[in-house]
Amino acid sequence: MRGPAVSRAARAAGAAWVLLGSLAAASVAQAPSSADTGAAVESPFDLVVANGRVIDPETGLDGVRSVGIRDGRIEAISLTPLLGKKVLDASGLVVAPGFIDLHAHGQDLPAARMQAFDGVTTALELESGTLPVAVAYERVAREGRPINYGFSASWLFARIAEKEGMEPTGAVTFFQDAQRRKGWQHTLASPEETARIIARVERGLQEGALGIGVLAGYAPGYGRKEAFAVALLAARVGVPAFTHVRYNSVIEPQSSFEAIAEIVSLAAATGARMHIHHLNSTSTRDIPRIAELLRGAQGRGLRITTEAYPYGAGSTVVGAELFRGNWRERLGGATAGDIELRGVPFNDSTLAEAQEKTPGEWIIAHYLRPDRSAADQDYLDQSVLFPGGAIASDAMPWTSKGQPVTGDAWPLPADAFAHPRSAGTFTRFLRDYVRERQKVPLQEGLRRITLIPARILEGSVPQMKRKGRLQVGADADVVAFDLATVSERGTYTQPNQTAVGMRYVIVNGAPVIRDGVLVREALPGRAIRRPVTTR
Ligand SMILES: [Zn+2]
Repeated sequence: MRGPAVSRAARAAGAAWVLLGSLAAASVAQAPSSADTGAAVESPFDLVVANGRVIDPETGLDGVRSVGIRDGRIEAISLTPLLGKKVLDASGLVVAPGFIDLHAHGQDLPAARMQAFDGVTTALELESGTLPVAVAYERVAREGRPINYGFSASWLFARIAEKEGMEPTGAVTFFQDAQRRKGWQHTLASPEETARIIARVERGLQEGALGIGVLAGYAPGYGRKEAFAVALLAARVGVPAFTHVRYNSVIEPQSSFEAIAEIVSLAAATGARMHIHHLNSTSTRDIPRIAELLRGAQGRGLRITTEAYPYGAGSTVVGAELFRGNWRERLGGATAGDIELRGVPFNDSTLAEAQEKTPGEWIIAHYLRPDRSAADQDYLDQSVLFPGGAIASDAMPWTSKGQPVTGDAWPLPADAFAHPRSAGTFTRFLRDYVRERQKVPLQEGLRRITLIPARILEGSVPQMKRKGRLQVGADADVVAFDLATVSERGTYTQPNQTAVGMRYVIVNGAPVIRDGVLVREALPGRAIRRPVTTR
């Protein structure tokens, strides 16, 4: 649908439509590229983002342009002013594709709003994934979202279901509740059980899941043959396996290195695309050797991708296998004090008590201390800047008084808590790695949060070919931010603070952040989903 045509008289009078833009801005821009179109369009665009520094990581465009949006798509990127029913002045701002987060566990409305302030326009739960997949998509569609959403099919949920007789609910609380059971983390699956686990996962893929979520690190005792069966399914269906690797340890055996070597072998043997989540938190101080392993595998053509988040602490349930046995040694000299519950460090006895009584409680664990150690900062940088890697948040659900914060709650309750990455991963990356320490140029920094994650998915998810780009024909998921001030604000003790610097966040053509303020009624987010092949 096109907007109503506007007469030249009306345009000349300037009465009907807003016309912004200055020749001065246009004249300093680069020579027109093939992306420059639209100046001659007669009818106004639904929305124009005017005079920003437009950057597209795929074509390399970096110049002052106006962006014309109609019916949720980008229809023009112009050196000359564009006519819009609404015009947002982006002078002095960077205008980029909306950020794509491959790793977002907080699939509730409050979590999505916090991520919108961080510039995220697509937040996907791929590492855990969910089951039943159709139930999760229907729940989110019913509630509505400001940003795009989607899920993988959860291998771990399928395993828990078969091992414990618990039926998954399509919610993350299923995973928390399962922490009280002890059978699924270390027992092998029989061939019959494996077949049933695979069938459950395949059903999720038939319901449109984006890949297979493999939380291997939470059930490190599962069999190699089961892992092989999961990778074979990924290869057969043609979707990636999104993996939290089996082990987290700097010492052998059962090291992080060994776990990533397993991913390499699965990719080699099956041809499956294997994605490794949070390279930072599973590699920790062994990243130099792990990076060499990964580069070697990639250089020989194996389809392995990865991501990291720019924090030295992780977040998980206190009952996780990661904190069992000789975990202190395996994490390179960690102590109970490196684990915090809502800002309060544990000691050995309070940790043991929490593991026993409240194993599903979310905690924060410092595995690197970049604030205290230059060496640790360097380890973190090696993961965050791994060549070709994406940035992804691992954003967590928000909780208040032990309960998840869900529904149309805004602002979040004052005591709402989550790892600060849930509100600040992308703005922190832009502040710290691009602006302050200048570890990557802006163009490359944006590439890691837009185009690279889109490409990881687009081989099996056609919708992603229209995301992560600021080009004519792309979905109008667009951010406009102030590079001089963009920053996270949340901390490990005070995480409930929205990021700053995002002036406009536009999703499918509709602003969800406008002049830095949430447009509360705006819920333009759409499902990212593969075609459903079963009923
Ligand atoms: Zn994880």
